[in-house]
Amino acid sequence: MSNYSDLINVESLAEKRENFSPERWDVSFYCKDCEELVETNRPNPKGYTFKCIKCNGKNVAVGTEAGLKTNYRIKW
Ligand SMILES: [Zn+2]
Repeated sequence: MSNYSDLINVESLAEKRENFSPERWDVSFYCKDCEELVETNRPNPKGYTFKCIKCNGKNVAVGTEAGLKTNYRIKW
């Protein structure tokens, strides 16, 4: 999916930032409105805003897939 080099700034959004490395972890996006993992657009390439491609909302959490699953109790 996403180019990791574009996600380098996501580090500051990670809850466990000392353990977070975009080079080593898969970064995923969870839309709190759609209540599922989604792909996102970045309206501002250098910003922290991500927009859900499904609902076009900004209520998107960023993190590792495992972390998001735990935080939002995603079952699949
Ligand atoms: Zn959405």
